[in-house]
Amino acid sequence: MQIGIFDREKIPLTMRYQVLLARRDHNYQTYSVASIIAFTISVIYVLQQVFVPGDVPLPWIGAAYIAIFSSLAAVSALFFLALHWSHERIPLRFEALLVQGYSFLVVALTTSLTNIDLVYSKEYTGMFAGLIATCVVLSGPPMIYTALASVSLLIFSMGFFVFAPVQDVNAFLPGLVNAAVSAAIGGIIQGGRTHNEVLKLHLQDLNRELREYSFRDPLTGTRNRRFLMEYLEQHRLFELRHEMGLCIVILDIDHFKRVNDTLGHPVGDVVLKDLASVSQGCLRDSDLLARYGGEEFIAVLPKTAIDDAVAVAERLRTGIEYHTFAGVPWNITASFGVAEMRKDESVESLISRADIALYWSKKDGRNRVSRAGEHGATSESYS
Ligand code: GH3
Ligand code: MG
Ligand code: MG
Repeated sequence: MQIGIFDREKIPLTMRYQVLLARRDHNYQTYSVASIIAFTISVIYVLQQVFVPGDVPLPWIGAAYIAIFSSLAAVSALFFLALHWSHERIPLRFEALLVQGYSFLVVALTTSLTNIDLVYSKEYTGMFAGLIATCVVLSGPPMIYTALASVSLLIFSMGFFVFAPVQDVNAFLPGLVNAAVSAAIGGIIQGGRTHNEVLKLHLQDLNRELREYSFRDPLTGTRNRRFLMEYLEQHRLFELRHEMGLCIVILDIDHFKRVNDTLGHPVGDVVLKDLASVSQGCLRDSDLLARYGGEEFIAVLPKTAIDDAVAVAERLRTGIEYHTFAGVPWNITASFGVAEMRKDESVESLISRADIALYWSKKDGRNRVSRAGEHGATSESYS
């Protein structure tokens, strides 16, 4: 049995696609622009060879080389642009496969062209251009691909000498071997890298989930005490600078022990859940409701003056009093204490003043709201 939430097999496949597509998004613009430029240069070059008088016409192999390179560049540009425009219409999985497959094709073709270039023209520009283009496609650091291509070229050279000791022999077979080896090694490296990125994403997700768990109360789904204290501390620091006014309302369910004792603990749990959702419904989205202790909750009301906070507490009080709680044959009520944060006041002191007000609400008969300080100074606290 697996305890905890990390499970390698639970990594969704879509996450893998997302990594591939994020890489595509990162690449496609650069790659499209580079491809269009390469294509334009090739076309200009061919036109110049054909139309400028006096120039030596291209040998057929050179022309073929330029033609293949240009079409590869043009097709790449069109492919990536088309993917960019239509990617919302294609299924994620299919798009990821296309990107992956196309990357391999480009590696194989670039390497083959590089080899032809090397054999026939003894000129290395094509090879370096190919290396850079391939790195862009695979989003890999140039160092890795250069090392990869060196190995592949070494194999190619060995193949060349084994299969073609004579100068003008067909380089097709060694070229093919070289391209296949390049594509395979590239695939292995890329596969490993994708796997690592997927794991990283998955861990980030789990981290977010764990953080969320550690800041929520599992029973009511509201924020817990730990979150509340951090939240208040942050607001306190903000308050020191901006003096926006911040109030808290503490509520404690009246005679809750009676619910547990006469109706059972599970009914008590349901009441707590219900009360949290009723209270949440009486608050604004910008307010925070947290479970402070057993049957005590604190609502934080940012940018609120004390009179408005008392009105919110009244709304909560009547909201709870008139709500029908499932399985409870009497009316559930709660008592409230309201306090406004003073300048330079600590979070503990704010909560303690609200708690003293709550004590007075209980003492005065329950199901009521008191504001801090209205009964004079007292050191008695409720919780
Ligand atoms: P008062 O009006 O003075 O607040 O009376 P009370 O009965 O509400 O106060 P008391 O502090 O005596 O009782 C609180 C009860 O809340 C006791 C405890 O068992 C119960 N409680 C605390 N947490 C939970 C919980 O998660 N589920 C349930 N069902 N009960 C809880
Ligand atoms: Mg209590
Ligand atoms: Mg109580």
